[in-house]
Amino acid sequence: MTAHPRYPLMFSPLDLGFTRLKNRVLMGSMHTGLEEAENGFERMAAYFAERARGGVGMIITGGIPPNAESGLGSRLTTPEEAAQHRIVTDAVHAADPDVKICMQILHSGPLARTPDCVAASAVKSRIGTYKPRELDEAGIQKQIDDFANCAALAKQAGYDGVEIIGSAGYLISTFLVNKTNLRTDQWGGPFENRMRFPVEVMRRVRAAVGPDFILIFRISAMDMLEDGLAWDEIVMLGKAIRDVGTNIISTHFCWHEAPVPTIATMVPRAAFAQVTGRLRRELKMPMITSNRINMPEVVEQVLARGDADLVSMARPMLADSQLVNKAREGREDEINTCIACNQACLDHTFTRRETSCLVNPRACNETLLKYLPTPARKRIAVVGAGPAGLAYATVAAERGHAVTLFEAGAEIGGQFNLARRIPGKEEFNETLRYYRRMIDVHGIALRLNTRVDAAMLQGMGFDEVIVATGITPRQPEVDGIDHPKVVGYIDAILGRKPIGRRVAIMGAGGIGFDVAELVSHAGVSGALDVAVFAREWGIDFVNHPRGGVTGVTPQVAKADREVWLMQRKADALGKNLGRTTGWTHRMVLARRGVNMVSGVEYRRVDDAGLHTLVNGEPRLFEVDTVIVCAGQVPLRGLHDELLARGVKSTLVGGAFEAAELDAKRAIDQASRLAAAV
Ligand code: FAD
Ligand code: NAP
Ligand code: SF4
Repeated sequence: MTAHPRYPLMFSPLDLGFTRLKNRVLMGSMHTGLEEAENGFERMAAYFAERARGGVGMIITGGIPPNAESGLGSRLTTPEEAAQHRIVTDAVHAADPDVKICMQILHSGPLARTPDCVAASAVKSRIGTYKPRELDEAGIQKQIDDFANCAALAKQAGYDGVEIIGSAGYLISTFLVNKTNLRTDQWGGPFENRMRFPVEVMRRVRAAVGPDFILIFRISAMDMLEDGLAWDEIVMLGKAIRDVGTNIISTHFCWHEAPVPTIATMVPRAAFAQVTGRLRRELKMPMITSNRINMPEVVEQVLARGDADLVSMARPMLADSQLVNKAREGREDEINTCIACNQACLDHTFTRRETSCLVNPRACNETLLKYLPTPARKRIAVVGAGPAGLAYATVAAERGHAVTLFEAGAEIGGQFNLARRIPGKEEFNETLRYYRRMIDVHGIALRLNTRVDAAMLQGMGFDEVIVATGITPRQPEVDGIDHPKVVGYIDAILGRKPIGRRVAIMGAGGIGFDVAELVSHAGVSGALDVAVFAREWGIDFVNHPRGGVTGVTPQVAKADREVWLMQRKADALGKNLGRTTGWTHRMVLARRGVNMVSGVEYRRVDDAGLHTLVNGEPRLFEVDTVIVCAGQVPLRGLHDELLARGVKSTLVGGAFEAAELDAKRAIDQASRLAAAV
């Protein structure tokens, strides 16, 4: 077989002796909510089969609990339940017999949402709902038996292997770490005892499934806990796990409760792969790395550095099920890249909603949202090339409609052209690259620098007019709002107006936070430089102290500015930011000394600054610049004009509804409308 010209390592097989993986990319485990949904197994079958057809070498399912105490929801404890899983494994193997599918066994331990939850010791997790019960000897043996039984049932269900998660604060990891293992018996105390539980689990699982079944263990290679695992403990555990018949070790970074971002968009690509590399050199066995690896060139670089044998891409497989095929066929520029926003995946998981993807609303909706070829080709005008217009145009053109896309500006993207300029949001450039390419691939007629009015459209004979003109920033009714020191967020982000040394930001929604990031930031973006990122979050990749964290106050570069971020509401600022990422933004701004002020009533802007009442008390903020980030209102002038002329049009995105609008809603709404036109 000849090597792939661009990705020779990515497309080389991996021989495990009794079986072979066809390439080095696997789809990492993600809980999607389909596990518990109506027709969930059928929906999962379609979701995984589409990824199998997309070229991935191996798939790991979302975590499945092995017993009642390990969590509510869909578990695998009986042959009847195994029969349900057959729907999934058969679909994947029918899609491509060379693709392997492994089931993840997840025992959540103290993070299980059940009052019957168990752990090494009765230590409640900071993020758990219930205090766990400490397992006695019989309880420990039962948990191990349940892992083994679950693995045997997974084999019966047609899986090619299982992955057992031994990290993140779930049951197995509670045995490993001092703060959650207070035992004095053979399962606690010195590390040899603390690691007994995971090693026994793997030994008994291997015995239950026989030799020809893929066994993967997910290890905490850097748990980010101040009294976490030391490097020699991780190595000792890895070797013991290897020696009881584990085929592959997958590295995991961070317990869920640790205050360090490991997958958000502010994390540099492949930042943690070096840790896998170091462990791989110690263990000398097949190793998987993961985290913020979202494009094929990054996969190839990681493999070329010898950091891993396999690369796990989880969210990137939500964003584009065909990622691997596109890389193999030299169509990388057609990849719909995961921007690591978490908005439709992890934020949904943590609020118990079904997972999907901001840039690909079909993810997990494969049986419900289909982009089928149209039987009746229409001429469609889409006005506005922001996320809503771009998504509509792409889906409609993919289905065979003749689409003309009008954009008033000189480039496509709408507000994404602002978002991509915020330090830490560089990945948003990829979405624009994707859409630029889709415009070519699907033959969309793009008219840039063309501000459309109703008269212009009326004579053009379109069958459908889609108004995706977006929003206009809200101008609050405050005295002096036209003072020269008042700057709109668009001008501030585009650098069209100077920003002074003392800055008040009026409005603390997503855009207010982004503007605060922009004006308080200095130096290189941490998202582009692993060393900067490590300094900002107190990670020591070089010496790997316990947990991988230095324990010293993180070093943050900051601009020479004093910044006040304000809102009228009395609540804490940033409450409505993303569930899994909001805390990172709040923490970064706090470390840069950005002042957060709530309960503000804006009275007047004048030469002295911004006059307010804060919780009823008069207060003057002596600032040089006031940046307005006070929300948005829909831009519907074109729609109204068309209506007046008797031309039917469809509103989408911000033009439809600006309140609580984000790109997730804009793209989802546009894609669904375009799928139905
Ligand atoms: P827009 O993006 O506003 O696009 C409308 C387009 O229509 C514009 O390009 C405009 O030029 C064009 N247009 C208007 N009138 C006409 C006309 N008459 N003729 C031709 N063209 C016209 N959302 C998230 O989900 N996650 C984020 O992290 C995020 N970060 C953001 C950061 C910043 C700094 C900003 C400003 C926004 C952010 N958003 C984010 C919000 C997101 O960008 C918007 O929700 C999204 O862009 C709305 O899409 P839209 O297509 O409806 O409108
Ligand atoms: P937003 O989230 O609605 O926030 C608007 C802010 O302006 C709020 O702080 C609001 O708080 C304030 N405000 C509203 N009316 C005001 C008025 N009349 N006078 C003064 N202040 C007023 O909107 P946004 O920040 O413009 O963001 C737009 C959309 O983009 C949002 O849906 C957001 O989710 C999305 N976005 C998301 C991200 C992300 O990281 N996920 C980042 C950027 C943007 P008070 O009323 O309390 O003052
Ligand atoms: Fe990636 Fe955002 Fe999609 Fe999640 S929602 S898969 S983070 S692009």
